[in-house]
Amino acid sequence: MTTWAQVGRTAPPGREAFAEVDTQGVVEAKSVQRTWLTPQPPSSLNKPASLEDVWLILNYACDARCKLCHIDGLSTKLKPVDVVFAQMREGRRQSVGGRIGFSGGEPTLRHDLPDIFVEAKRLGFKRIHLYTHGRKFADRDYAERLVRAGLTSAQISMHGASAESNNEFMGYDGTMETWQGIANLASLGVSMVVNTVLNKSNVDELKQIYLQTLPFAPAVVEYRVTYPIIQRAALRNSDSLVSLEQGIDRLDELFAMATTVPIGTELFPICLLKSNVESSVEWRFRNQADFMIDAEHSDSARIQAAECFGCAHHEYCTGLQSRYVRQFGAPRIRPRPLEQATCRLPATAQ
Ligand code: SF4
Repeated sequence: MTTWAQVGRTAPPGREAFAEVDTQGVVEAKSVQRTWLTPQPPSSLNKPASLEDVWLILNYACDARCKLCHIDGLSTKLKPVDVVFAQMREGRRQSVGGRIGFSGGEPTLRHDLPDIFVEAKRLGFKRIHLYTHGRKFADRDYAERLVRAGLTSAQISMHGASAESNNEFMGYDGTMETWQGIANLASLGVSMVVNTVLNKSNVDELKQIYLQTLPFAPAVVEYRVTYPIIQRAALRNSDSLVSLEQGIDRLDELFAMATTVPIGTELFPICLLKSNVESSVEWRFRNQADFMIDAEHSDSARIQAAECFGCAHHEYCTGLQSRYVRQFGAPRIRPRPLEQATCRLPATAQ
């Protein structure tokens, strides 16, 4: 029987994730507080992790109501801008890279977002990345304003192939605005990852969503499929989850048809990706440490099997979520020998 145990990737030094494993191998995992004020540990390749990127959560407020939202119910207040600026300064002091990413909630709810970008540039960040549903960028003036302020790349959410399915999943009517926003940002030279959180309503639509991103290449540098973090709204709507096996089957079809826009994956156990390991965000960024400043955000605890500790991907693979194992059981994992391949990053966006 597979025994699932602790995994440290989701917690910084001194704040390890932990899990209680019962005699059935079922894990009662504890959520961990993510307050990454120090670099994460070096990777399994024993190279020093370089502290490249600073990630800052600006607010948890959002105007969408995604069915599988993992931060649903957190504060609806915007982080005070002086706190944002202080955290940016601390990030700049500790990081060696030139990129800062801003996420939420929905960061475009902030009227001071352009000021935040300008301050990031003043502090020396050369690349400014934004996680957004993209709806507000349908307003060309707004898109131009943020690009002038410093926006260089974005990750845009698109969770359905049709307006109906995307709106239904996101709990709002904004799909057409998001596609218009992608078009505006593409014409302004912003590179983008289009991201889909896998769920029951879109598992059979991935190919269609992918095809819709192609006209925006090369501005769209990646189409990414992310497995949901199972907490908060995702716990309430767990009937919207699909098994990893089902998701991987559809991903295999996607990899087979991929053309100009590469396919990315996030939060999938790396060994399940078979020959498509390079699609994994965790694998591509395995030699980089993150610098994430946030006092409130917590992540669902992650677990790995005993076999994982002999796997080349052990240090950076996110393994499984304990709640996933409870709902679907553990998939068959295949530990991998150490890989020598060089890390290949997308040039302009994560
Ligand atoms: S065997 Fe390796 S790749 Fe698979 S879940 Fe465990 S650590 Fe991840």
